[in-house]
Amino acid sequence: MFSKVLVANRGEIAVRINQTLRALGIAPVAVYSDPDAGAPHVNTAEQSVPLSGNTAEETYLNIPKIVQAARACGANAIHPGYGFLSENPDFARACQEAQLTFIGPTPESMEALGDKLHSKEIALGAGVPVVPSSPVCLPGDSESGEFVELWGFPLLVKAAAGGGGRGMRLVYRRQELDVAMESASREAQAAFGDGRVFLERYIANPRHVEIQVLADKLGHTIHLGERECSIQRRHQKLIEETPSPALTPELRDRTGAAAIAVARGAGYVNAGTVEFLLDPQNGEFYFLEMNARLQVEHPITEAVLWIGHGGVAECRIYAEDPYNDFVPSAGRLLRWQPPSGPGLRLDSGVVQGQEVSIYYDPMLAKLIAWAPNRDLSLRRMEVALSQFLALGVVTNIPLLRAVVKNPQFQRGEYDTGFLEWNPAVTSPAISDETRTMVRAVAAWASRQPSGPASPTVGTDGQANVNPWQSAGERRLP
Ligand code: ADP
Ligand code: ADP
Ligand code: MG
Repeated sequence: MFSKVLVANRGEIAVRINQTLRALGIAPVAVYSDPDAGAPHVNTAEQSVPLSGNTAEETYLNIPKIVQAARACGANAIHPGYGFLSENPDFARACQEAQLTFIGPTPESMEALGDKLHSKEIALGAGVPVVPSSPVCLPGDSESGEFVELWGFPLLVKAAAGGGGRGMRLVYRRQELDVAMESASREAQAAFGDGRVFLERYIANPRHVEIQVLADKLGHTIHLGERECSIQRRHQKLIEETPSPALTPELRDRTGAAAIAVARGAGYVNAGTVEFLLDPQNGEFYFLEMNARLQVEHPITEAVLWIGHGGVAECRIYAEDPYNDFVPSAGRLLRWQPPSGPGLRLDSGVVQGQEVSIYYDPMLAKLIAWAPNRDLSLRRMEVALSQFLALGVVTNIPLLRAVVKNPQFQRGEYDTGFLEWNPAVTSPAISDETRTMVRAVAAWASRQPSGPASPTVGTDGQANVNPWQSAGERRLP
């Protein structure tokens, strides 16, 4: 067993890993950038090492600095969390070379799975159907023309190295294809250092269903059921739930078996996720990609596994404006009062008074609601969202509420285009005037001496002075 593990990440996932390490009697060591000094992932660790700098490149993506930090503090292992260096084979190799255990898959399987085309070959080799795609191609290629003939429009341009919704373009017309390929390639080159792109058949109105797998080094590979992740914006997940309303017991068995086959085919070790698209046209599923890491939505799997039954959903709370193109919002979290209660779990990376910076992913927290069945879990989620008080930055909470309250969503009738074909859900439920007023009052409150401007954790004893103490469902629209 390790005695000390460095967690090379920030935010809620680093806090979550710190908690497990402590529960196992292992000392967690945090690393942090300048803006993150005093952040929850630092305060919940046993020890912390500064990575001076602001940007991700200078800090959480800096392999030499992180390996050096781990050696200097005497850690035995590194946990990468998700995002950042979690799927970087060079990082896993650098850990090995420094005699540090990388808590994740081997660099070889990361390399194979990090390339979407290579991972499809593995899936095909394992007898699993994949979303049809072309080989790597260039704008104007005759080869790309063949696939255009075959599938028609729309079709997708994807980066082989893509992830997090980046390097992907939906193309509706022949005239737009070359430009889309060029811009996807440029984006992928900048984000992943690899500009190779390919074409993929577009599946209309699919559902995104994925399977959590776990594999040990002795050849045991199991799956832990599915997660339905079709509520997305910009091809990125917003709300996830399990069980999936779309899976029959038969499809559940088949996707589970297919996920295990892909993991085995990749020689996979550790926790990973195999993603599929369900095609409503024929009821079949197709392998999309495999993510060689822990996923943001892992808590819903934990919730049903720990209890053994029931329904559970997760909402990602983002500092972004759902009514203005999802632009990220930065600033000081003047009030942060998340709900709590039976069946609720909050995995949060922030505290009240903290500065939300522009440097990193705008996800603040994840709200998870479990109940004995799906309907009850969604009701529990709706109540919890209505009581969630977050002021100082714009959040997507109103949008999450609108989805959870939507009758079609509640009936389980949705696909990855849900937000696009539901303009009512994506338009503000409150007027611009009310929003301006709420912002003005928040700004006023921040200037009050006993108000949220003094960045204290908790609000004890301020009930009479603080105008936000009892805000929530009753006071704020
Ligand atoms: P999931 O399927 O778990 O949602 P994503 O691909 O959306 O996985 O990425 C997981 C998280 O990591 C997201 O919050 C995403 O914004 C973030 N992320 C993805 N790639 C990077 C990266 N290269 N650097 C930093 N964060 C990243
Ligand atoms: P990333 O690596 O960014 O996670 P994925 O290939 O997993 O990219 O796709 C992300 C999302 O984009 C999917 O969940 C789905 O909503 C959409 N998508 C991807 N490929 C297709 C496709 N061929 N047809 C329709 N939608 C797709
Ligand atoms: Mg994906």
